[in-house]
Amino acid sequence: MNDNQLLRYSRQILLPGFDEDKQQKLLDAHVLIMGLGGLGSPVAMYLAAAGIGKLTLVDFDAVELHNLQRQIIHTTDRIDQAKTESAASTIKQLNPHTETICISRKLQQQELQNLLNNVNLLVDATDNFATRFMINRACYHTGTPLVSGAAIRMEGQVSVFNFKNRASPCYRCLYDEAGEEENSCSENGVMAPMVGIIGSIQAMEAIKLISDYGETLTGKLLITDAMHQDWRSMKFKKDPNCPVCGKHK
Ligand SMILES: [Zn+2]
Repeated sequence: MNDNQLLRYSRQILLPGFDEDKQQKLLDAHVLIMGLGGLGSPVAMYLAAAGIGKLTLVDFDAVELHNLQRQIIHTTDRIDQAKTESAASTIKQLNPHTETICISRKLQQQELQNLLNNVNLLVDATDNFATRFMINRACYHTGTPLVSGAAIRMEGQVSVFNFKNRASPCYRCLYDEAGEEENSCSENGVMAPMVGIIGSIQAMEAIKLISDYGETLTGKLLITDAMHQDWRSMKFKKDPNCPVCGKHK
């Protein structure tokens, strides 16, 4: 690390138990962020600011006026621009040392798996169950740690699936592919800071996983209700009958 980096990351390196070696792990890391919307905005901004070396940004949407209420990585003058390109511009301003790779199209599972071979971790910041289940399968098959988050109305949740450990449950252990009712922000609304709260926790969990710092949400689901500012976490186990990670898959 050079003097410039030591100064830029000095407030992290000062942390008890977080030394230059841990900061170096962040600098050497490559994180894939799926979705550059409300959750992906704080995820990408905090990971870049904290010093993650390389970010692959995946989103096939363009910036629209109604995104700007919560998708704070984008700006008014970037309406109609690809979200990946808009996010990359903000990241460059925040931290010119973070390399970005933009993928502005929909990915199929195999294509995502190929990308994951060169990635330390995936942050799922998408907004629909079909994509989340596909991401879960791709991460499980490649042994890529997955940080999952969701926010709607005044509610949110976060969990970590550390597939480096084969005993870890997966997203499919928690949710039934056939039985989940789709809840979208376009139908239900979402309060601006809700995605900021959940995305920031996702960034925190990603940093902890990469630098091996603290205890992550592996095997736990953190649920928050901002209407009553009520926070709780529940433990969950691997489902032995899970079609993705169970015994009889
Ligand atoms: Zn499972």
